[in-house]
Formats: sequence, structure tokens, C-alpha cells
Amino acid sequence: MSGPDDPAHPCLRCGACCAHFRVSLHWSEAAPELGGQVPPELTEPLRQHERVMRGTSQARPRCIALDADIGTYSYCTIHALRPSVCASLTASWEFGERSDQCDRARIAHGLSALTMADWVR
Ligand code: SF4
Ligand code: SF4
Repeated sequence: MSGPDDPAHPCLRCGACCAHFRVSLHWSEAAPELGGQVPPELTEPLRQHERVMRGTSQARPRCIALDADIGTYSYCTIHALRPSVCASLTASWEFGERSDQCDRARIAHGLSALTMADWVR
């Protein structure tokens, strides 16, 4: 999920990507002693150099930091501290391009993929 400040941003009525993918991160992102900001207690070990957001390494992923009713409202409770992989996932057509991850997550949750029309204010 990207970083919406606009209350009309489609991500604030979605949250599908936070409940579809395994969200892995380099361990240092959750290491405060190295400047990592992701709360380590919300992560768990994955592979040698990786941790994963709790709740996302399971058959039906749902990030522990997600406060959402998918498709109705969505809020990342650690938005300012979220992993870089979350910040880098942009919504389809937010910046003029389709996002395969956004589309796949939304469709998996029974939502239609975003179109350019979703960004007309
Ligand atoms: S799936 Fe797309 S629209 Fe939904 S929260 Fe993620 S980036 Fe936003
Ligand atoms: S940390 Fe926030 S943006 Fe990232 S998957 Fe979890 S709820 Fe979504």
C-alpha cells in the first residue's frame, strides 16, 4: 500500500494488498539499533537475512498491522514506519501505470482493478 494523504485515495477503501502477499523485509529494517523503523515485535524471522510481517506468511495472509474491512476501509497502523516494500507498492494508475500487484490483490478479494477513472477528482 502506498502513502495516501488524500481522504479520497482508493487505498483507504481497499487494503487488499496487505491481505494477499507475504510481506518480507531485510532484517535491518526491523533493527532499531541500525536505524530500522519497523516495529520488530510485528515481524518474525523468515530466511537468513529476512524477516516477514506477522500474519503474511500463511495461506491466507493478513498483515498484523492492518486495520481494515477489505473493500470498505483500510488503514495501516504503522503507516509512517511500514517496510520499504509496502511504501514502494503503488496503486494502479496512481502514477500513470498499471500495477500488477495491485490488480492481482484486488481481484483476489473480489474487487475490480482500478482504472484511470478512479483517480478523477
Ligand atoms: S491493492 Fe491497490 S488499491 Fe488496494 S490498498 Fe493495495 S495498492 Fe491500494
Ligand atoms: S505494514 Fe502496513 S502497508 Fe505493509 S502490509 Fe502491513 S498493513 Fe499493509
